[in-house]
Order: sequence, then C-alpha cells, then structure tokens
Amino acid sequence: MDNSRTDYIPIWLIYAVTVALGLAFSITIFFIVWNNSLHNKNQEFLVDTVAIRETVMQKIYAVEDSIDYLSAMITASPEFDPVIFGEFSGKIIELNDFIRAAAILSAPDAIPDPGFQDLSTLALAESATFNLDVALRELQTERFDRITGNIFQSEKTVILSSSPNGTAGETIWFFRLVSIDSGELLPISSGNGIIALAIDASELLTGSAVTGRISTSVYSESAGLFGRQLLSGNRIQAPDDRWQISSFAEQNNIPLTGYSIRLDFSKPVYWHEIEQGLIYTTLIIGVGVTLLLVALVRTRELQARELRKRNIVIEKKVEEQTKELAVARDKALDASRMKSDFLASMSHEIRTPLNAIIGMSELLSETTLTGEQKKYIDIFRKAGDTLLSLVNDILDLSKIEAHQLVLEEISFDARDTVEESVDIYAVKAAGKHIELIARVLPGTATRRIGDPTRLRQIILNLISNALKFTERGEIIVTVGPDETSDDPDRLHFSVSDTGIGIPADKLEKIFASFTQVDSSTTRKYGGTGLGLTISKSLTQMMDGRIWVESEEGKGSRFSFIVRLPVDDEVTEISGRFNIERDLKGKRILVVDDNSTNRLILRENLTGLGAEVIEAENGRQALDQINSGSEHHTPFDLGLIDCRMPEMDGFELAEAMRGQGIDLAKILMISSADLSKDMEKARQLSLGAYLVKPVKRADLLQIINQKLFNLENEPQNTTANQGVIEPAHKQDGTILLVEDNPDNRLLIKAYLKKTEYRIVEAENGQLAVDLFRDNDFDLVFMDVQMPVMDGHEATRQIRKVEAEKNNGRTPIIALTAHAIKEEIDKCIAAGCDTHIGKPVKKATLLQTIEKYMA
Ligand code: ADP
Repeated sequence: MDNSRTDYIPIWLIYAVTVALGLAFSITIFFIVWNNSLHNKNQEFLVDTVAIRETVMQKIYAVEDSIDYLSAMITASPEFDPVIFGEFSGKIIELNDFIRAAAILSAPDAIPDPGFQDLSTLALAESATFNLDVALRELQTERFDRITGNIFQSEKTVILSSSPNGTAGETIWFFRLVSIDSGELLPISSGNGIIALAIDASELLTGSAVTGRISTSVYSESAGLFGRQLLSGNRIQAPDDRWQISSFAEQNNIPLTGYSIRLDFSKPVYWHEIEQGLIYTTLIIGVGVTLLLVALVRTRELQARELRKRNIVIEKKVEEQTKELAVARDKALDASRMKSDFLASMSHEIRTPLNAIIGMSELLSETTLTGEQKKYIDIFRKAGDTLLSLVNDILDLSKIEAHQLVLEEISFDARDTVEESVDIYAVKAAGKHIELIARVLPGTATRRIGDPTRLRQIILNLISNALKFTERGEIIVTVGPDETSDDPDRLHFSVSDTGIGIPADKLEKIFASFTQVDSSTTRKYGGTGLGLTISKSLTQMMDGRIWVESEEGKGSRFSFIVRLPVDDEVTEISGRFNIERDLKGKRILVVDDNSTNRLILRENLTGLGAEVIEAENGRQALDQINSGSEHHTPFDLGLIDCRMPEMDGFELAEAMRGQGIDLAKILMISSADLSKDMEKARQLSLGAYLVKPVKRADLLQIINQKLFNLENEPQNTTANQGVIEPAHKQDGTILLVEDNPDNRLLIKAYLKKTEYRIVEAENGQLAVDLFRDNDFDLVFMDVQMPVMDGHEATRQIRKVEAEKNNGRTPIIALTAHAIKEEIDKCIAAGCDTHIGKPVKKATLLQTIEKYMA
C-alpha cells in the first residue's frame, strides 16, 4: 500500500495555492472593471472641464471684445461724448449680463502718476445692482495704487480682482488705456483715459453645460504685475455621507494679450458615482471562481480519498484472493503430485508383474513349441509389450502435465541419436521389407546440447508410427538445419513414409490425446493415440513445434523443429578424425535399387573427395565395369545392396568374380543379419558383410580399412559390424538381490545358458550379510524391497567393501521407476548403472559383459 504518493504535496498547500489563484483572478478582474469605471468618470470630467473652459473663455473674450469696441468708438470720434459712451456701454451691459459696469476714467493732466483716488469718472454705465463708486472704492488700496502706473503705460488689458488678499473678490476689473481727444494713443497725462469694465466674479463660471459638480479656480497671470491672483472659484464641499474613492485634477490655460487665464479643475469621485453593478458582479464572479476552484480541489481530494479507500479494499481482496489462489494452487499441485506419485507407483506395480509376464513369454518362446502354441505366445508377448508402452506413455504424459519432466542438457551427437533410433527399428523394418534410412544433410552441425533421450523418444515414436502405417516403400529419417530461420541452434528433423497417409481434416487432430484417424485404427494397428501428444509436448519443451504433411494413399511426412544449441566446446573424439580420411582419387561403385540409399552414400563419399559410380541394379553395374578401360581398374571399392530385384547382390558378386574382379574390395550390405547370407559372404571372400542400417562411422571405418589396408585399426565404433565374431564366454559369481521370486526366476532363466553362478538374496539385509562373507563379481540390486531397500543395501555393501579392501564390485540397480530422480538416487547410493524393468535378456547380457570385462 502506497498512499504517500498522493500525499506528497500537503493538502493545505493545495488549498492555499487554489485560494491564492482565485483571489488573484478576482483582484485582476476587479481592477480591470474598477479602472474602466474610473476611466469613464475621468472622460466625463474632461468633457466638463472643456465646457467650463469654453464658458470662461467666451466671457473673457466677450469682455475683451467690449473693451475693443469701446476703445474703437472713443478713438474714432473726434471728441469724447459721455452720452454716446453711456448709451453704447449700456447696450454692452444689456447684451452681456455678467458685465456689471463700464466706465471711462481719466486722471488730471498734472499728475504724472496718479493713484486711483485721483481718477475721475468721465462716463459710466452700470447695471442696477452695481455701484461703480462703491466698487472703485474697494479697489482703492495700496496694491492698486502700485499698478496704476502700469495701466497708464500699457496698451494691453490689465485685469484685477477686487480682492487684494489672494481670495476671489466680488468683481473682476478689466482696464485698458485709451486716447480720448486726439485719436492718438498717448500717455494719460496728455489727455488719455482708462476704460474700466467690471464683471461679476461669481458670473464668470455660471452658464456652462456641465454634468457634474467640479471645483474650479480661475486665476489671472499678468506679466509685470503681482503674479497670480484668484479671480473666481467654486469649491465643492465633500458630503459627509459619501465615500470618496478617487479624485481627478486638470489645468487649463487661456492665453490672452498681456495676461493669461488659468483654470484649475478638480473633482472628487464618490463610490456611488461609479458603476457599482458591474463591480458587484465582478466581485461575485471572483468569489464564485475562487469557490469553484476550491470546490474542484475538494472534489479531487474526496475522489482521491475514495480511490484510496477503494484501493485498500481491492488490495485486501486481491491479497485474500491471492492467498486463496495459492491455497488452491498448492492443493492442485498436491493433487497433481499425488496423481504422478500414484501413476509412478501404479506403473511400478504394473511393471513388476509385466516383467514376469514378458520375461516368461520370452523364455517360453525359446522352448520347443507347436505352431499354435508359438502363435499364442506371440499374441501374449505383443499384448505385454503394448501394455508396457501404454504404461510408459501414461507415465510420461502425467509427468509432462505435472511439469515434473525436466529436460537434460548434455552434449550429444544428433547423428548418433538418429542412427540409434533407426538401428532400433532396423530389424522390424527389414522384416516388413521396408527401407529404413537415416540421412544427415551435408553441412549439419550435429554436436548439440540437449536431452538425447527425449529427442530419441520423439524420433522413435515417429518411426514406430511410420512403420505401423506403411506396407511397402521406404521410411527416411532426415536431420538438417532449419531453413526457415537464421538461428543455427534450430534443427529440423523429419520422418517421411510411403504409407497410408492421413486425411487432410485429421492432420491437426492426431496431435491431441487419445486421437486416432479412425476408431478402427486401434483394432488394425494397435496404439493408444498418446505418442504424438507426447511428441508434441516434448518438442514444445524444446522450444519447437511439430507438424505433418500428408497425402492419403501416398504417405506422410512428420517434421519437427527444436532448439538444440550447437556445442562449440566439444573436442571431437579422435576416432572421428581418423575415419574422415580424404578419399580423393578413389573410385567407389555403389549398387542399390533404392535411390535414397544411393543418394546418402553419394553425399557421404563425395563429401570426402571420392568419385562415386552409381548403378541401380546388377546389370547396370556390370555395364559400368565393362565400359572402363582394360588396364584401368573400374573401381577401388564396391558397395553392393544385397536385396535387389532381378539380380541380387550375391549374384552380382559372382558375376564380378567371373570378370576377374577381386571380391575382397566388395562390401555387401544386407538388411537382415542372416547367418545363411553371412556364410555366403564368407564363401565368396567378400571384403565385408554389413547389416543395415549402416552407421556412417562404421561404414567409413570399414571403407578406410579396405582402401588403405588398415586391418588392425582399433574399433572406435559401437556396432559389431563387419564379420561378426561370437562373444567370448565368461564366468563369475553374481549376487542377485530381488524380493520378487518371479523376477529372480526370470533373471536366472536368462542366465541359464551362461557360465555365471547366481547367488540369491531376498532383501538388502541378507545381501549385505552374504557380501560380507563371500566374494562376488557383480551385484544386481532391486530398489524397492522389504527389511532393507536397495539404496541402503548398496551403501552398506560399499562400506563392507572398504573394510575388506579388495576392489570395487559393480552394482547394477534394477529400477522400476524409469525416472531420472530415481536413477540419480541409485547412482548416489553407490550403484554403477541401472537397468529398467522389465529386464530384457539382451540388455542383461550386455550389461554383465560390460561390467565383468
Ligand atoms: P498411436 O499411434 O499410438 O495410435 P499417435 O499419437 O502416435 O498414437 O498417432 C495418432 C494417430 O495418427 C494414429 O493412430 C494414426 O491414425 C495417425 N498417424 C500417426 N502417424 C501416422 C503415419 N505415419 N501415417 C498414417 N497415420 C499416422
């Protein structure tokens, strides 16, 4: 269980980040909306300021224009007429209600720098609410005195507020110098006057079409005077109950001749003024998004928690189920083990009586019997053999199914395996007049690593089937590289026959257990339907496959490809090199009616450099000999098949002798080990008499002997080919340890005609006692016995041997379980080898000869 991974980031951190993200989002959109609202307000404010400026400008311009008109009027008339001035300026006041009064003032000529108090009003027009005298009196301050000089020297308008102390007064004064008499502008001392226009300061700002309330201050900035002075202003008082959120400010200038008007605007922005709906919406969205994010995280967290909970439940369940499965598996394994154990012991139980049955029938068949009795004994023996092979097959299959069959990995020669397999069925094939041929394709690396016993089992099964289902023709067992793959470790074996074939729809099915082409097969040919199933399992265990191609009535070809790694380590047995002698320049005649046999001989011999002359029959062979030059020997060696149509091998040999050919260089190859034929061969002084199947090594050895006169070369081969010598007689004492009296009887019967002396022991204990007091040349040791079993007895005997200190006696185990573990156990206990039950006579004799030698 690993929950820590989901908890790797602490949950509080995930929430914090989520809330932060939500807030960041909310704040961002809030500010966007906020700024947008303020921006709109600011735009309004700017529009308002422009409107106010326009109003102020219009009024100032109107005043300027009025002064211009008045001065133009005065300057244009030759003589100043106060009445006309009064009327004219009255009109101006009437048109511009913010102008309160217009007057023309003049100072006495004598005074060069008069103060305001010295000015006299020449003419005046005023609105009803205005009193010029009073207004002028307000102006008569020190400050104004100081600027009169300026006025009298300037042609420009001079503007003054009635308030001297920096606050806005009630009236704004516009003054301009004007020439009263001459029409020429002269200093006031020489008859000039001052036009004075008074406007209501509070009127300056009224009348503009503004949407909002704005604080406005109007200043005049006159060059040469006392700087900035406040002309008018309205300050908006902030209401107490309103929440100010921002303020705008703006400045504006109206430039005029001699002075400029400056406008300062400011406006507070209140919360209630901006678009609150949008802001509230934004806030709701922001909070909503934050909550949504948090909810998402929460959902994920809950999901993860739920998942974890479920995982725990599932894990628990899996754990429980695994436990249950393990129990079930153990039970199944136990059952399977019990089944194999049962089968193993059952096979032992069946084999023991079978041992006696088969052995006794073998012995019985050696006695003098009537024809009928012989027939019955034959059936009796065949039934025993079938039963034995069935027991073996079932045992094999159960081991494969229980995965108890372990393949060996030893170095072996695939050629030996194929040749041995062919050897085993040679007699049977010869009896059916079927050519059984082993063929190793040239260029096949035959030294391999694997399980030769199991490989042989597959090949034997296929040959056995082929023999069973073939009446005439040939059976060819071929081994070669796997052409379909680049892997050099894969070997392709095939067994092809010229038998009855298999219907196309049965090709797949025959590999299943207990399946035969049709049910009558069992009656006619026998068999259990297990052979191919076992073969298939074995090929699969060898990382391979098995398949069949067949044509009904023409024959079948069973193929299998298995992986048997090439053994690079192996150092060839010295004999192998010796027999692979260079045959260059040697001419070898091959006479055989079977083309496959000729092909194989040709492959083998030309591979070593020999020249092969082939003939299909005796006549062709004789023709070949006759066509050769008289002085030139037509061939160095002849290999003649004994059984051929028309002229057989012996007839051909005789004909050859008639032509003066030395028969010592003729090797006769027969398919049956017939003493009659052997005798004939001896009479004809043939070079050798060989019995099919001839192993390559044996053939090459004899060819070498004949071609290079190496008669004394030691025999490296296992087979007793050539001219067979009878085995020399031996004697000795054998201790037979076996609890079953039938089996003891059988073995004694087998050895009846030999010189061996048999001492019997019924169990291991008796055997050990006997061994202590006597000397034996060999011991046969049964494994399963009462009192003391074979393993323990063997161990004890080895101990006694060590005490007596007079050499090692061969001990041969008689095993019923032909399984590897059992054999290993025997060897570990001290046995030299084992013979599987039921014991066959030939095996028994061979083993004795081998171990007593
Ligand atoms: P068994 O030979 O003991 O019946 P197998 O599994 O070896 O069992 O073979 C199954 C069947 O496949 C045989 O009974 C036979 O019908 C068919 N068969 C096998 N080999 C051959 C063959 N070489 N020619 C024709 N039929 C064959």
